[in-house]
Amino acid sequence: MKVHHIYNPEMECMDIESRRKLQGERLRETVEHVYKNVPLYRERMDAKGVKPEDIKTVDDIRLLPFTEKTDLRDTFPFGLFAVPNEEIVRIQGSSGTTGKPIVSGYTQGDVDVWTEMVARSMTAVGAGKDDVVQVCYGYGLFTGGLGAHQGASKIGAMVIPMSSGNTQRQIMMMRELGSTILCCTPSYATYLGEAIHDMGIDPSELKLKAGLFGAEPWTQEMRLKIEELLGIEACDIYGLTEIAGPGVAFECLEKNGSHVNEDHVIAEIIDPETGEPLPYGTSGELVFTTITKKGMPMLRYRTHDICTLNPEKCACGRTTVRMGRITGRTDDMIIVRGVNVFPSQIETVLVRTKGVAPHYLLVVDRVNNADTLEVQVEMTEEAFTDSLANMQRLQKEIASEIKSVVGVMAKITICPPKSLPRSEGKAKRVIDNRKL
Ligand code: ADP
Ligand code: ZN
Repeated sequence: MKVHHIYNPEMECMDIESRRKLQGERLRETVEHVYKNVPLYRERMDAKGVKPEDIKTVDDIRLLPFTEKTDLRDTFPFGLFAVPNEEIVRIQGSSGTTGKPIVSGYTQGDVDVWTEMVARSMTAVGAGKDDVVQVCYGYGLFTGGLGAHQGASKIGAMVIPMSSGNTQRQIMMMRELGSTILCCTPSYATYLGEAIHDMGIDPSELKLKAGLFGAEPWTQEMRLKIEELLGIEACDIYGLTEIAGPGVAFECLEKNGSHVNEDHVIAEIIDPETGEPLPYGTSGELVFTTITKKGMPMLRYRTHDICTLNPEKCACGRTTVRMGRITGRTDDMIIVRGVNVFPSQIETVLVRTKGVAPHYLLVVDRVNNADTLEVQVEMTEEAFTDSLANMQRLQKEIASEIKSVVGVMAKITICPPKSLPRSEGKAKRVIDNRKL
């Protein structure tokens, strides 16, 4: 029998009917708030002929309009904020679809809600005030670092804000400070695990007991590998900047799907083609509505992530719905080293670079458990006759431009004119060789 710890039993184990009632009330308040304060929501609801008073129960959610990442981009930076800027205490961000970032604004209350979501996630893997939490997610606009940090502080743990990178130092600190909980991407966890073995350290010399891994898709095979390499319990944590950050859903030690924090968000699965809601258990696109957020509430935000929802009560005692692993995307977004990458962002860079033709192919792979991104791009006929020095300059220029726009380092391969495959229909822009 596993021992389960629950941060907020009142909310996490609430009986389903009471929770649905609470969700309905909170949804109605949220809709009133955004209808009054955000022109985009008012216009979209008016266009559908829906008024805030039409939202009586949680089931009425299907009357509401959807939102998309493009809405955040089009109203960048403050267009979806529902409170005056002086009430916003934090900005976090993530990569958008065209190189323009998207940002999310949080009131103090929103930061507190997000922090509690992560505190629940930490508690669910058995973490508490006696633990030493090593955060190797990046700190900055990206929600991973600060999100994990806040949650670990909330449960009173000793937090080591390592941020990402510098593996040797991570391992040194892990050993010297006796880290017990690890927070990073699953691919980095594998990388760390192998580095530890390569350094001749036996994981039993370390104090690690569990890890919260997320920000990118991973598999059950990868879980087993991480657990074996590090001798820990490896649990999933899911989230997105638009809704809060990591912690929107998290796995308990049953490791059988991620509990959605349903007192703060409503999760739906829809048919990505028709937008119609699908019953529990059916695979489709995950959609979230925030019901406690004030700074930038989101109505029916389409994540483009594909998964299923499972409403069965979990052996841990929580009654919240569980999402299965993300099995794919409905768009062409890929995640490279935890960073969201859209082929269109790379295209934007290539199109404005002199000397290259708009024909390209992205090849993603995983070497030594680290993602690699190669951009193959064709030169124009004129540029191709140029000198080797110029080609190298071009490679450097493209790599640094992609790094600044997209946020990841890519290997640039310059190809002769007309050498990349052409397609008659939708161009295939991405080859993903990772076995996810
Ligand atoms: P994050 O800080 O979680 O990376 P972003 O807003 O940058 O937040 O990216 C959100 C996207 O990352 C999600 O829509 C999903 O595609 C992916 N993601 C986050 N967590 C997970 C996870 N545990 N499993 C699979 N994909 C995830
Ligand atoms: Zn559970």
